[in-house]
Amino acid sequence: MTDPTRKRWHPQPAEELRSTMHGSELMEIYEFPCCGKQFGLNEKDVNSETLSQVRPDGCEDLPG
Ligand SMILES: [Zn+2]
Repeated sequence: MTDPTRKRWHPQPAEELRSTMHGSELMEIYEFPCCGKQFGLNEKDVNSETLSQVRPDGCEDLPG
């Protein structure tokens, strides 16, 4: 069982792979090198929060 109160994270910061047009919006595609998980962000939504390594889909438990 995973502890739902335990935070998950990606130990390596997301890297930008490429930009792509999604309709009229510019999307930035990022990848976490630790596990290869990719996600897309509207370029307007790219900030330290949306690029946080602490995410529910993290591949490891947050230490500490
Ligand atoms: Zn990861």
